[in-house]
Amino acid sequence: MTIRNRIALQFSLIVGGLLLAFSVLIYLTSAANRRGEFRNRLEQKARTTVRLLVEVQEVDRQLLRIIDRNTLTVLFNERVLVFDDRNRLLYASIDDDSIRVEPTLLTQIRQDGLVRTTIDGREVVGFRYDERATPVVAVASAYDVTGRRELADLRQTLFWSLLGGVALTIGLGIVFAGQSLRPISRLNEQISTINARNLQQRIGEGNGRDEVARLAANFNQVLERLQRAFEGQRQFVSHASHELRTPLAALKSEIQLSLRGSLTPQQHSQVLQTLLADTERLINLTNSLLFLARTSETAGRAEFKPVRLDDVCFLAQTELQMAHPAYQIRLSYDPLPQTDAETVVQGSEALLKQVVLNLLDNACKYTPDHTAHLRIIPGLQQCQIAITDQGIGIPPEQIANLFTPFFRADNALGYEGAGIGLSICERIAELHQGRIEVSSQLGKGSTFTLVLPTSSSL
Ligand code: ADP
Repeated sequence: MTIRNRIALQFSLIVGGLLLAFSVLIYLTSAANRRGEFRNRLEQKARTTVRLLVEVQEVDRQLLRIIDRNTLTVLFNERVLVFDDRNRLLYASIDDDSIRVEPTLLTQIRQDGLVRTTIDGREVVGFRYDERATPVVAVASAYDVTGRRELADLRQTLFWSLLGGVALTIGLGIVFAGQSLRPISRLNEQISTINARNLQQRIGEGNGRDEVARLAANFNQVLERLQRAFEGQRQFVSHASHELRTPLAALKSEIQLSLRGSLTPQQHSQVLQTLLADTERLINLTNSLLFLARTSETAGRAEFKPVRLDDVCFLAQTELQMAHPAYQIRLSYDPLPQTDAETVVQGSEALLKQVVLNLLDNACKYTPDHTAHLRIIPGLQQCQIAITDQGIGIPPEQIANLFTPFFRADNALGYEGAGIGLSICERIAELHQGRIEVSSQLGKGSTFTLVLPTSSSL
């Protein structure tokens, strides 16, 4: 069932239910009023008859009948009967032998004083008249022809109004629901034309105020993000294939060269050395790409342990200086930690060392005298590692792109590198619920700060 029909149906059911409830209420109230009024009238007449019969000696029964026949409505088949205390008929307003009143009814009237009921469609009012030595019981009955006809008319009117009302509600419901859902149908048509090849397309945002407009705006934002992600993915793949193809082509040409001429054992081992170095670079690159391609950000968190960040820094410093003896790295605390907990984070030592190594390597690589300063900034909530250099710096407008895979700033193109180190660092920082902040001045130097929550704050 379409939403339009569902809304129309629900709307009609609610209105129909309300109309039905009101109709029933109106009908029942009218029926009760009619019955009450009719019985009052009947009782009034019967009391007059009894009073005349019992108290006015001059009025004999024949005269009373004449009076009754003139005052009681023939149409309603009205009759008044009076019984003595032995259930003998003292008076009947009409001559009709078939008139029978159940003795149980007379007993009940004697007990209760007044009984109002309906018997075989006739309204019946019976009462005890005590103002005499031997009390009598009067029973008046009649058909409420007019009342019943009016009630039947009312029933019909209510029935047709109810039917008309429901039909009208269904019709109006369908029209209005269709009208209010039309913007969504339009949206649907536009959305169905969007696919991976035309992600740059945007849908109309209507008046910009209602819910549909907000939905369209949100959808456009999602499209924007999707388009950027697609673009990033495309660039990533093209960069990755380029980065892999270049060293592979180099490997191939080195092998071809060595196959062409006869090489001395010394040249042979030199070629093999070069091949080994190139293969190692390729392995590193492939590992980095695989790490970046891993989608789940929580992957590996289960194996996290408490790690002392200052130990990680010392290890990275030693390792980097062994690989590059020309690098000079100064390490300091800023300030000294009060407790061990201020430098302990929850994480993977190997991954965190990779981040510090990468940041230190960059700092030394992009600084002509290859010096860098690493500050450990302990804290109860978070521990920071700030790596500062006085190197080439980064053009301000390019700082935002540093963490995009394969991005390299214009002034770094003369230096060795593939542009994926920082993306990996950022991914590792996020994995540890941390972040990397950058501040830099072109030509003066940069500071990269790794900010991580301490174990005690998690
Ligand atoms: P790579 O250093 O291999 O190019 P990275 O991902 O580590 O790749 O760094 C990305 C880019 O960020 C670098 O190409 C460089 O432009 C810039 N960058 C990173 N660290 C520094 C630094 N300490 N000083 C200047 N530029 C830097």
